[in-house]
Amino acid sequence: MQVTEIYKSLQGESTYTGLPCVFVRLTGCNLRCTWCDSEYTFQGGRKLTVEEVHDEVSRLSPNGGLVEITGGEPMLQEREVVPLMQRLLDDGYRVLLETSGERLLERVPARVIKIVDVKCPDSGEGDTFCLENLEALTAHDEIKFVLSSRADYDFAREFTERHRLAEQVNAVLFSPAFRKDAAGARTSSQCLLDPQELAEWMIADNVPARLALQVHKLIWDPATKGV
Ligand code: SF4
Repeated sequence: MQVTEIYKSLQGESTYTGLPCVFVRLTGCNLRCTWCDSEYTFQGGRKLTVEEVHDEVSRLSPNGGLVEITGGEPMLQEREVVPLMQRLLDDGYRVLLETSGERLLERVPARVIKIVDVKCPDSGEGDTFCLENLEALTAHDEIKFVLSSRADYDFAREFTERHRLAEQVNAVLFSPAFRKDAAGARTSSQCLLDPQELAEWMIADNVPARLALQVHKLIWDPATKGV
């Protein structure tokens, strides 16, 4: 499999936020979100076997714990990624899969916690969500909307209500996008959508969703990679 980086940090954008976590970031993505902060994963990386990735995870976190498979889009490498996730589960790791929602998720092992994006209109990749994935969701999964405008918020709210997402998954996350070129100041003023404004909309509408900030960008310089 083609891997951009494997590193240990804190989980930063789900209900697992703040927990130590090993990240396996795979190379390649078939989407081009306008605010993407992972463009460095589109090319390059190194070729590793499932066994080599597993060994590196074990070295960084020898006593189990949280592992997140992310990218790029990890499900582009489904043939290797599914056995890797199964191997990590068998070893007692809690496995998160962060995915754009564009690929079919039916072959993801049931015990994997899927954190599935639904791309909003101003990402430039609206309408890419694979609706069949709604059938693959379980009560421990999470759905994430990254928002950069009021139009994105309205889309996310309407989609959440229409598909009764809050009744199907552990959490529906509304996350303000950070500016792609955010660097230096570790503050939410670097978001494309003001979190305070988003919070006020969510309170007014009593939305069954959780406001989620990318906390690693408030802890480290937002331009820092490998955290
Ligand atoms: S799906 Fe993720 S990695 Fe791909 S372009 Fe969008 S934000 Fe970037």
